[in-house]
Amino acid sequence: MRLILLGPPGAGKGTQALRLVAKYGLVQLSTGDMLRAAVKAATPVGRQVKDIMERGGLCPDDIVVSIVAERIEQPDARKGFILDGFPRTVPQAAALDRMLKKRGIALDAVIELRVDEEALLRRIENRIAEMTARGEPLRSDDNPEVLRQRLVAYRQQTAPLVAYYRKQNMLRTVNGMAPIPEVAAAIDKALPTEPSTPKSKPVRDGAKRATAKARKPKAAARLGKKSSKRASSPRKAAAAHKSTGRKSKSGESARP
Ligand code: ADP
Repeated sequence: MRLILLGPPGAGKGTQALRLVAKYGLVQLSTGDMLRAAVKAATPVGRQVKDIMERGGLCPDDIVVSIVAERIEQPDARKGFILDGFPRTVPQAAALDRMLKKRGIALDAVIELRVDEEALLRRIENRIAEMTARGEPLRSDDNPEVLRQRLVAYRQQTAPLVAYYRKQNMLRTVNGMAPIPEVAAAIDKALPTEPSTPKSKPVRDGAKRATAKARKPKAAARLGKKSSKRASSPRKAAAAHKSTGRKSKSGESARP
């Protein structure tokens, strides 16, 4: 399964990603974590993005896209992944579409965690206060002023992705203001019953698919329709699944 979690900072993407990782055996690919690791290690990319991140702005698309392109090649991402914090701009989403198409794979769903901004600010301010009280280190961009900037960046550059994925019929919107278990249940309900790839035109396993169709006529038909639109070539998909890569050192953890 390949998912995107979409939502402003503090919407609960990290919390839900952790649960989905455990439940479906996916890897969580958090560009925020990857970029923070680069900053910490003072790599050339890290040095380039440090100030931008501290101000709450978005890092350049080409940097983030190449980090993700490399990461999804790793063997652990082959079974499926959750993108958390990526894509964050329309050009990033278009680059992701091309990346997936090239590999003959497709997304299964984009889960939007919809939240109220005022409540969100209070939620994050509480989180900051709690972490401070527990003596836990804060991220350098976890302060109310920078947070406002991160929300502005979300509104201006990331929110247009809602329409982008709605148009692709990928968007599933969940109320992110509900208690965590309810959000989790809503996400589970919104997920497709069958992964959408690798896929395509009827091939030799047609018989198997026909059985699935008979069991879940509507869902199967819906997935089949989507898949034929997105699938590039079954051969490419098989090749992508076969190729191997090195395991990455960064990018799998989540913040609560
Ligand atoms: P948040 O808690 O705000 O959702 P993240 O941990 O996802 O934060 O990201 C932290 C910072 O990393 C962002 O404010 C931004 O500077 C940078 N960043 C993360 N992902 C991306 C991305 N896809 N494109 C550009 N910048 C990104």
